[in-house]
Amino acid sequence: MIDTHSHLFSEEFELDIDSCVERCKENNVNKIILVGFSDITNIKAQELAKKYDIFYPTAGIHPEEANNDYLAKFNGLKEFIKNNKVYAIGECGLDYYWDITYKEEQKKLLRLQCELALELDLPIIIHMRDATKDTYDILKDYKGLRGVMHCYSGSYEMAKEFIKLGFYISLGGPVTFKNAKEPKLVAKGIPLDRLLIETDCPFLAPTPFRGKRNESSYVKYVCEEIAKIREMSVSDIERITEENAKNLFKI
Ligand SMILES: [Zn+2]
Repeated sequence: MIDTHSHLFSEEFELDIDSCVERCKENNVNKIILVGFSDITNIKAQELAKKYDIFYPTAGIHPEEANNDYLAKFNGLKEFIKNNKVYAIGECGLDYYWDITYKEEQKKLLRLQCELALELDLPIIIHMRDATKDTYDILKDYKGLRGVMHCYSGSYEMAKEFIKLGFYISLGGPVTFKNAKEPKLVAKGIPLDRLLIETDCPFLAPTPFRGKRNESSYVKYVCEEIAKIREMSVSDIERITEENAKNLFKI
């Protein structure tokens, strides 16, 4: 399996990162996309990827980082990517859930990162919360852009629209929650060749660890739940999502 969205560099793992990586291998999680989202975490992702060959680092600027300094932050990102190998741009996107003070800056920052992804021929990792329409309206402007809607929580209808734009849909812990109607519909309905799995650890742990620290080895619970929903074998979902991740991230 491939966890396509992990923040294992977070301080939550400082004391037991070795055993976390070990548990991944024991559970057949052999590749992990290590997702940066700010100056500091972009560096942390690089550092951790140097220690363990299981990791594939990315770099991006999260919408919650958007403020009056967005352009300087973007230029910093550009410079960083010149000097470091990354497998994707992101995570980036729009988040109107917490704070909409810098809505316009969020949009500009997303557009800049879309352009950068196209220029460098890299996939983009999109974070979207309470901002479906604006996100769609921006992404549709970039023909040829490929990427993933990470921990997708939108509607099945919109998932199909993002797929038409060339995006993959990644499902995480919430698809295992009992009352998660929409993610289950998405898991059942989207074409298999557009499906990815992830943890977004340390956040959003799947059942039976809901509310606790999440880690990359738990991606197997996401895989099992999707297999159940689609009435397929776990090994088929493993194989298909692995293939998809390899295609998208070129790993
Ligand atoms: Zn994330």
